[in-house]
Amino acid sequence: MNQYAIAVHGGAGTILRSTMTPEKEEAYRKGLSDAIAAGEAVLKKNGHSLVAVEKAIRVLEDNPLFNAGRGSVFTNKGKNEMDASIMEGRSLMAGAVTGVRNIKNPISLAKAVMEKSEHVFLSGEGAMKFAELMKAEREPDEYFVVAERLEQLKKAKEADKTMLDHIGTVGCVALDVHGNLAAGTSTGGMTNKKFGRVGDTPMIGAGTYANNATCAVSCTGHGEYFIRAVVAHDVSCLMEYKGLPLSEACKIVVQDKLVKMGGEGGLIALDAHGNIELAFNSDGMYRASKKQGGEIFIGIYRD
Ligand code: ASP
Repeated sequence: MNQYAIAVHGGAGTILRSTMTPEKEEAYRKGLSDAIAAGEAVLKKNGHSLVAVEKAIRVLEDNPLFNAGRGSVFTNKGKNEMDASIMEGRSLMAGAVTGVRNIKNPISLAKAVMEKSEHVFLSGEGAMKFAELMKAEREPDEYFVVAERLEQLKKAKEADKTMLDHIGTVGCVALDVHGNLAAGTSTGGMTNKKFGRVGDTPMIGAGTYANNATCAVSCTGHGEYFIRAVVAHDVSCLMEYKGLPLSEACKIVVQDKLVKMGGEGGLIALDAHGNIELAFNSDGMYRASKKQGGEIFIGIYRD
């Protein structure tokens, strides 16, 4: 039996101590530890890492503090269009959805694509049709609306910019006692996104990747750069083809490759030995991790 391990993130970006209140900080910490607890409950009972990842992400999607599910950011047209993906390291099976609306838990829909369809990646109208067939839980528009997000859209429109949210995307990586890795990521994307924009989050290899032979990775940051750097798969490739340890692979991709391109953000990663990396090049990243029998670690800022 392996020792289980789990890590979650709640987005990376300009997260500064100076703009945080103690109440807000406490709420984020609780959000992250609730997600770890939900995932750990599965792992403790010798459950599968894929299920642990789904459960942890659902908790973050249901929490309006984070930019996924309830609390998703707004598109230029004032809508919530969500993306999610999930991957299993044992089978290299994966599922993803993009541009879905009114779906309470996009991560569960991505898992359904993996397990119940013959495809990997469904978009927009087709993904919504599949959600209907799967009887995916739906919520009305109002459920997803958070006042702070509307304010962010107003500001982004005034600046005529697509903005990386400060309270971002969510993700989870887990290793179960059977030695299987899994990764998942879910987001509302970037504030003021236009033209059906798709970020890295639902792209297998960019925002999410898992392979038992190497690692499980979930990313957060400026998606356009993460797509071009194929971040999650690149970390895995550095381990597979160059034989690098997880820490070294993450450092090269996050602190060197992405920085040179101007790609702000970070990732959480876990290898088959239970080593955890929480790497970012932004001011902060909401992050938490826990190993079997260990204490929970929660971090927000760079220091
Ligand atoms: N990576 C996400 C996207 O580009 C945003 C984020 O991580 O906050 O859609």
